Amino acid sequence: MSDLPELWKKLSEGYEVFKELLDPVIMDYHKVDKVEHPPCDFGPQDKLGFDPLDATGEFIVSTRVRVGRSHEGYPFPPVSTDEQRKDMENKTIAALNTLEGELKGKYYSLETMTPEENQQLIDDHFMFKNDDKMLGDAGGYNGWPKARGIFFNDNKTFLCWINEEDHLRFISMQKGGDVGEVYKRLVSAIKQLEKKLTFAYSKRHGYLTFCPTNLGTTLRASVHIKVPKLAKNEEVLNKICADNKLQPRGIHGEHTESVGGVYDISNKRRLGLTEYQAMQEMYNGIKEIIQAEKNAK
Ligand code: ADP
Ligand code: MG
Repeated sequence: MSDLPELWKKLSEGYEVFKELLDPVIMDYHKVDKVEHPPCDFGPQDKLGFDPLDATGEFIVSTRVRVGRSHEGYPFPPVSTDEQRKDMENKTIAALNTLEGELKGKYYSLETMTPEENQQLIDDHFMFKNDDKMLGDAGGYNGWPKARGIFFNDNKTFLCWINEEDHLRFISMQKGGDVGEVYKRLVSAIKQLEKKLTFAYSKRHGYLTFCPTNLGTTLRASVHIKVPKLAKNEEVLNKICADNKLQPRGIHGEHTESVGGVYDISNKRRLGLTEYQAMQEMYNGIKEIIQAEKNAK
């Protein structure tokens, strides 16, 4: 085991060594014929074409866009040591502390947070938990809560999760349906942080993440959307989502249920398309969902 860090020097190695097993899974999830990924492209920031989706505020409760990143030179969570996690935590905090203006914020360690503070952040959809059985069984919670925590700005519109499922998750979120504003804030944060940190990347897989469903752009753009009429017939809702390459989740994230006809609906594909295209898939799909809800009896 002592040469493990050497073996994992390049994070893409696991995905290459086990490609016969993993490539079919990746192709099936991201709906591509080949595992290959275009260069990063966030689109024209000054004319993205994402007008607010729901001007009257009838359907969209909140909008969130996140990406995952891994530090180059560190192994994926199941084989990371506590020391490596601590190292990654320190590096990340140092980089986050250089952010200015709207993105400027503070780091809150899971090790020192009170259970009440933690629960409040979870209830408000800002904080992660360690209750995903799949992730736990895969070793994603090793050493919990050591070197885990969350950084956020004053109004909690830019957040960073440290050592949750991935080494890093960058998140931009706010109330309402202004997809453009949320996305632009995230892009600005990524551009500033990539000057300070080196993210693991492979030509075939894009940005490398622990879970194959997150590879490529690693981008999940979601809305919490109130669709009480469609909620009465989840089969119809699921079909609209499938046709538009969207994924419905429950109100408390992956593997949870909808509450009161509110769903978390996001783009499903992340690899084999650019960041801008992934955003457009979500934007156009959500437009369809709103129309379907308006038309539903
Ligand atoms: P991911 O792993 O893609 O970041 P999860 O499904 O694990 O997302 O959910 C993480 C948290 O983000 C949950 O609390 C979830 O409710 C919250 N969340 C996801 N989308 C939105 C949204 N559009 N508005 C508010 N909270 C959201
Ligand atoms: Mg998650």
